Amino acid sequence: MNSRDKSIIITIDVEDWFQVENFKNSISYDSWENREVRIEKNTHTLLDLFDSIKTGTTKNPQNPKATFFILGWVAERFPNLVREIVKRGHEIASHGHMHHLCSKLSVNDLLADLTKSKMLIEDIAGSPVVGYRAPSFDINKEILEVIKFCGFLYDSSYNSYAGHGRYGHVDFSSYEKNEIAIRISDSFYELPVSNLLLNDRVIPWGGGGYFRLTPGPLFHLGVRRILKNDRTYLYYTHPWEFDPEQPRVTSAPFFFKFRHYVNLHKTKSKLLKFIDTFKTYNFITCKTYIDKIRSS
Ligand SMILES: [Zn+2]
Repeated sequence: MNSRDKSIIITIDVEDWFQVENFKNSISYDSWENREVRIEKNTHTLLDLFDSIKTGTTKNPQNPKATFFILGWVAERFPNLVREIVKRGHEIASHGHMHHLCSKLSVNDLLADLTKSKMLIEDIAGSPVVGYRAPSFDINKEILEVIKFCGFLYDSSYNSYAGHGRYGHVDFSSYEKNEIAIRISDSFYELPVSNLLLNDRVIPWGGGGYFRLTPGPLFHLGVRRILKNDRTYLYYTHPWEFDPEQPRVTSAPFFFKFRHYVNLHKTKSKLLKFIDTFKTYNFITCKTYIDKIRSS
């Protein structure tokens, strides 16, 4: 088997610097409207990065395609950004409306948040939204039931790294797995973020701050190992990770600030290098990947 049969799925959680979980205690929801908006510029940095590089075979070179999980709050204010993402050939999906942690919401409030964002983004994009990513990978079995009920085809919120306090814990062992896709029902799948398994220990290897902290060549080694086992690697990042000039939140706890700000100036060149290193692989969206899995 060669690299052409293997997939790399890049996912982006489209939220601005003032909406992240790490700063929730320092930034109130009602101050969002008055914050310096940097999401358009930073998302364009990513869109341009994808358009600057070719992947796939020499016979059929393509720009990498990614899945953008956008917050309803952002989509509502920047509808042209939604349209631009779709126009450039990427998948638009939902990151909920207000970036509330799912486990902190009642079932009714979660239903309302998910439905509002899904319908809003569909209206703007003019096409169905079939994917969802929960803020901070905070899911459990009950939350997954609600996501499924809202009509999504897949969820991509499971992160097996237990060392992070907010990530949810779910036992998927009773479900059928094809590559990384977990079949929860005929019409609902889980696409977990990739991590590295070393001597039965889960090492966070899916992106975010861990990608910014790990030296590139070492990170690539880990991804090769994941691709060997799973034939698929699923990566996540955020537009604010490409913005070293974003306003600083000084009042947040030290560790949260470290996690948010470490190596921001290196993210762009590191992601380009990562894509270039794996350019013979298929860089496809979550939706394209699910379609591939369902037809195999
Ligand atoms: Zn988020």
